[in-house]
Amino acid sequence: MEYRKFGKLDFEVSKVGLGTWVTGGWMWGGSSDEESVAAITAAIESGVTLIDTAPVYGFGHSETIVGNVVSQLKARDKVILATKCGLEWNDSNRERIRRNSSRDRILKEIDESRKRLQTDVIDIYQVHWPDEAVSFAETMETLLGLLEKGVIRAIGVSNFTIDQMKECMKHAPLHSLQPPYNLYERGIEEDVLPFCAENNIAVLTYGSICRGLLSGKITAETIFKEGDVRSMDPRFKPDNLKDYVRATSCLKEFAKSRGLTVTQLAIQWAVNKTCVTSALVGMRKAEQAKDNAGTFNSKLNEDDIKTIESIVNTEIPEPITRLFISPPRNLPKDKES
Ligand code: NAP
Repeated sequence: MEYRKFGKLDFEVSKVGLGTWVTGGWMWGGSSDEESVAAITAAIESGVTLIDTAPVYGFGHSETIVGNVVSQLKARDKVILATKCGLEWNDSNRERIRRNSSRDRILKEIDESRKRLQTDVIDIYQVHWPDEAVSFAETMETLLGLLEKGVIRAIGVSNFTIDQMKECMKHAPLHSLQPPYNLYERGIEEDVLPFCAENNIAVLTYGSICRGLLSGKITAETIFKEGDVRSMDPRFKPDNLKDYVRATSCLKEFAKSRGLTVTQLAIQWAVNKTCVTSALVGMRKAEQAKDNAGTFNSKLNEDDIKTIESIVNTEIPEPITRLFISPPRNLPKDKES
């Protein structure tokens, strides 16, 4: 495993980060706790130090499993825990998720997350989605208060535009961004990544293997379980999927010639970008964690990177750019209909 400094702060994170959305089961067609425990254990034992979770992943379940494993392995001082705030749900109707980054919501969530994660301090605390119904001043000043109290070590945002980040930075330091980024979703490359580099904002990419598409195991015939987010993703619709499957198969051949699996190639490609700090990858099983942790078993050079990008540009000349998911906004009161 390799490690990189976390933006302007004085700690490091592994370049491959463990994503735990799948651990919560919700939107991934369920999950097995036994497999999740094995996957998290294997990731930590393979040198992964960054673990990303969120209250909404299984409505507390992902955070609880992460907290239990880290505690059982006595690994709290070895890992960097990243979680999120600013999404609210109603327990009687969990499908009705709304953005809410108000002071009250954040102060409630932080205590619940600390309890579930069995920790006093959360290393990286990220606003999950921009909530324009609350002033960014209120959100950021609340986070600044937590930072000053030592309850969190870094303030992060996720799914924010450059303008939204600039607004946040007027009110508190911004340490990290979590955007979608992988070989098939490169929308942040021209503007967001340079902005983060200029401002020394750490970048934790999500969906780093395009929800499994870049593992090479998905075919045009793959059927996902009911409730699996991939059945809603336009990239997985039959007409589009065949192009992505063909591209992945070409990448797989190239990866083999470089002594890597295609998943390792995709992760290494992402973290090779100078301003990407860590690629978050969801890991359902221990085998996946071991595969992903082996990303640096063999190194890609600049020519390899050019070949990889040219394969993708040839096979998918018009990639789908829209986000596959986006929780509803809470509109400012004066805009509510
Ligand atoms: P991802 O990392 O692109 O894909 C993860 C899925 O790929 C796994 O759940 C697993 O699913 C499959 N997989 C992983 N490694 C594999 C391997 N070596 N071989 C074969 N299959 C493999 O997508 P993601 O989990 O959505 O994104 C990563 C993390 O980013 C999340 O877990 C979460 O922490 C974070 N995230 C954040 C946001 C946000 O809004 N901030 C949004 C999305 C994700 P199967 O076994 O089911 O195929």
